[in-house]
Amino acid sequence: MTQSARALLFIAAALLMLAACEGPTDNTQLIVSLEDCTGCGECTEVCPYGAIEVIDGDAVIDPSACHFCYRCVEACPEGAIH
Ligand code: SF4
Ligand code: SF4
Repeated sequence: MTQSARALLFIAAALLMLAACEGPTDNTQLIVSLEDCTGCGECTEVCPYGAIEVIDGDAVIDPSACHFCYRCVEACPEGAIH
């Protein structure tokens, strides 16, 4: 394999990896347990993407904005986000 072919292969692999990290799909959506959520808003404070807000006392995650950093999961004092 020539050096330029190897470089092309490397670029293609890098692009594939980036595409794989694009974003959430329906079956990986984080779920907020409405039974456990107290609406404290701590999750909204830590989300770097503005993907979560408290509406009528319950946290709601926007799946199109969530990047699965799990900061909200770690921050929630009730363990309400799964
Ligand atoms: S996982 Fe990260 S990006 Fe998604 S809602 Fe929680 S804090 Fe925001
Ligand atoms: S941190 Fe937990 S309890 Fe507080 S609003 Fe978010 S999901 Fe609800």
